[in-house]
Amino acid sequence: MAKPIIWQEITWPEIEKVSKEVGIAILPIGATEQHGFHCPTGVDFYNAYEISKKVSARTGAIVAPPMPYGSHPYFHYGFTGTIPIRATTQIEFVRDVIKGLVNSGFRKVIIMQAHGQWWTMHTAIQEIALDVDCFMAVATWWELACKKIKEVCETPFKHADEVESSVSLYLYPELCDMSKAKEDYSLKPYIDKKFTRPAVHAELINAFPIESITFVPQESVMETGAPGDPRKATADKGKAIVETAVDVVVDLIEHLKSNYKPDQFPKVKPDLEEDMY
Ligand SMILES: [Zn+2]
Repeated sequence: MAKPIIWQEITWPEIEKVSKEVGIAILPIGATEQHGFHCPTGVDFYNAYEISKKVSARTGAIVAPPMPYGSHPYFHYGFTGTIPIRATTQIEFVRDVIKGLVNSGFRKVIIMQAHGQWWTMHTAIQEIALDVDCFMAVATWWELACKKIKEVCETPFKHADEVESSVSLYLYPELCDMSKAKEDYSLKPYIDKKFTRPAVHAELINAFPIESITFVPQESVMETGAPGDPRKATADKGKAIVETAVDVVVDLIEHLKSNYKPDQFPKVKPDLEEDMY
């Protein structure tokens, strides 16, 4: 297997060569957040970074330095180990980083995001596209691997649970201690759960996404921080999930490569008489 190409590990002439030969960058964006008793607080940026490296090894796209902090729904605030940044701060940070990538010759960027901040990222690309002429796509592993997750896991994806812990066990087992994992159903719905949906199971999509309805601050009610039953996690389940997500992003990158030369990109920024952002 070819090696990933990692921005911070190479020199600027080497980066220039990748921009001229491939022209596609992957920007891993995670979060620093509690992941129960059994997984480290870096899960989300490790996942974003490790999945990005696998995509890079197969496509030659460059992996930008991972962003370790993320934006959070307000009900995550207050949990020990979690370091949230505001959505507005994150959007401006991503804007500046994307400008840095563009100024180094990469006008096609895959945002590899691995945390409950997908709505911030969707807003980010809408905002940034007014300002920066750069193709952007937000890749969230559990969306890309939704069907595979339903196939290999027993429980719906929430957080630090069977699904996410499986990914951790596959990518960095040395940082996980499954002897500390325990079942945690302490987080009770405070309105009928038919009105809210977890992130993945598509059959429940006719309900409010969790970011569309206010919720109980988790640090006040959760026992372990890992809702569900992470004891069901295995590295094999994680491998199936990660490989599925990687395949989808590789497919997108190959599609971009066959339709656009390294310095070409689908036009993004509108031609305006006056900039509106
Ligand atoms: Zn996570």
